[in-house]
Amino acid sequence: MVLEPKPGTYALILSCSTTIRVQIGRLGTMRLQPGYYVYLGSALGAGGLRARIAHHHKLSLRPHWHIDYLRAHTRFHGIWFSYDARRREHQWARVVRTMRDARAPLLEFGACDCNCRSHLYFFKRCPSRTRFQRALESLAKRHPPVEEFEPVNLSRVRLGREH
Ligand SMILES: [Zn+2]
Repeated sequence: MVLEPKPGTYALILSCSTTIRVQIGRLGTMRLQPGYYVYLGSALGAGGLRARIAHHHKLSLRPHWHIDYLRAHTRFHGIWFSYDARRREHQWARVVRTMRDARAPLLEFGACDCNCRSHLYFFKRCPSRTRFQRALESLAKRHPPVEEFEPVNLSRVRLGREH
């Protein structure tokens, strides 16, 4: 499976197995705990989803986004994504927020430029992509299909080069 260099919106599913306090740039500190972190973003610029996911996949030596700080202490678990030139990350954040047992571990994470409560949510147990998609479809008519890289396939994903 190849991730296309096309614009789209994604949910990064990261797993965490430790308890550790992490500084998230200037936003504040966050106490990580074992479970799953879901981060929402859109990649509409050059390189699209492929370049963005490649960025998230490797660890940043010089963290830029809030998620870069979190990434160093978590593992890639999966990706939900859809190809679409429309920026849907805020819509996705609204949907993930309403999912069962979702918690916002740090307000305004990834959401300093928008009105969302957060673009990061924590789940004790791995959230279901089909439930997410159902909730999304009831909110957004004619939403493009949400695809998924399952954890087992993730190592085979060819992410391509970032530029
Ligand atoms: Zn937002």
